[in-house]
Amino acid sequence: MVRVRFAPSPTGPLHIGGVRTALYNYLFARKNKGVFILRIEDTDQARLVDGAEEYIIESLRWCGIVPDEGINEGGKYGPYRQSERIHLYRQYADMLVAKGDVYYAFDTQEELESLRTESEKGGDTFIYNASVRGKLKNSLSLPESDWKALLEKGESFVIRYRMPFNEDIHFDDIIRGHIVVNTNTLDDKVLYKSDGMPTYHLANIVDDHLMEISHVIRGEEWLPSLPLHIMLYRSFGWDAPLFAHLPLLLKPDGKGKLSKRDGDRMGFPVFPLFWPYGETARGYREEGYYPEAFVNMLALLGWNPGTEQEILSMDELIDLFSLERVHKSGSRFDPEKASWFNHHYLQLRTDNELAMEFREILRAKGYHMDIVELEDVIALVKERVSFVREFWQETDFFFKAPDTYDSEVIKKRWTPETAGQLLELKDLLEKLDVFTTASIEQAVKSWIEDKGYNTGAIMNAFRLVIVGASRGPHMYDIISWIGKEETLKRIERGVDEIGGQVR
Ligand code: GLU
Repeated sequence: MVRVRFAPSPTGPLHIGGVRTALYNYLFARKNKGVFILRIEDTDQARLVDGAEEYIIESLRWCGIVPDEGINEGGKYGPYRQSERIHLYRQYADMLVAKGDVYYAFDTQEELESLRTESEKGGDTFIYNASVRGKLKNSLSLPESDWKALLEKGESFVIRYRMPFNEDIHFDDIIRGHIVVNTNTLDDKVLYKSDGMPTYHLANIVDDHLMEISHVIRGEEWLPSLPLHIMLYRSFGWDAPLFAHLPLLLKPDGKGKLSKRDGDRMGFPVFPLFWPYGETARGYREEGYYPEAFVNMLALLGWNPGTEQEILSMDELIDLFSLERVHKSGSRFDPEKASWFNHHYLQLRTDNELAMEFREILRAKGYHMDIVELEDVIALVKERVSFVREFWQETDFFFKAPDTYDSEVIKKRWTPETAGQLLELKDLLEKLDVFTTASIEQAVKSWIEDKGYNTGAIMNAFRLVIVGASRGPHMYDIISWIGKEETLKRIERGVDEIGGQVR
């Protein structure tokens, strides 16, 4: 039975790397008809941040990553919030005490700090392990009566893991393969603190065991903890789950881990949703990304389906996902590729759906549009946009006459004949009874032909007075949409204003 968990600590907004971890766990669970669990690891009270837990839940919900068991879903392995499981951890710490695999340490922060500084002076790093523990203040170095007295006195202590001296620990990672680490490079990590709180290592192993986790899929930053975790499983006499450590998400230039600062500097979010507390952060949702696009992009940052196919729905991702295809090396984040995905998913939406979304933006600007009319505008420019918000810059001239006229275009296109020709065109359009794209096109074309005018010259100047610049879709589509009256007004005004400027 596959049982996997996403186990975030609510210490701030969830980085997109964290969302990817959740996603891979979810895909793996669904693919293998297993169970996906959301467990909140909130035992480090000092690092808790208000709003972070809700943020995590809302981020997963937005992405369509649905837990089977979790703090809101419940389940028979609950509670799923570690702060509600506190009573459990002490007994497991005591189990290790009984086995002699952990010990009480009474060194104060200050004592440890000065040992660290001393080692640094000698060019070393201080490691609390077999080579020094005998000289420090703990239940291995002190006579039993002494340390027991300290405990009774209520002296502050931590429980540390007694890492064996000079032993090679062998273990496997699904992504990284076989790994060997010598215990002399490891320290005697704290498992339990005198405030009655377990550290991450103890709570994490105990819960993975109790929740019958089959595969631990998590970020590469946890790989250095794996030797300790393997040792803890041995000490408890439990079978360890299988491990898969996911590669880092790298900056766009590939140099180092993707951070909020990179996003701020280069103009893209590194969080799924807007983070409103303290130092705020931009979110993909608020930037106008569709969750399908975001998920698709994220899935391919560190994994590939083994084919060239890049557009993959959640169901297709589930179908194709395997841990064996997760990359070993870090994945470079590409902001342009991210908008490429959104472009694709936007094109899949109907004109009606897009019109409904764009209408909100228009409403905020004070334009109240009919959906059916808006659908026609959407259809004309859809291919040019990657985000709904971009519709405005592609279509503003449908809703309002130009405020200015592009001076470059005037310089290039406005000749002494232009004003006269445009006024002729105005008369022609005024006489048209049927004002559709086809009827206007036919009338204008035959007028240009009859007069022997230059089509390019007329149409460029025409666009200038209607749009204000040389952009936008087909002219006849624009004017049939804005209507005869508005078209005539814009010609008149343009001729007036540009004519005035040119003279
Ligand atoms: N609480 C850890 C975190 O914040 C969990 C790491 C793990 O999955 O073991 O990422």
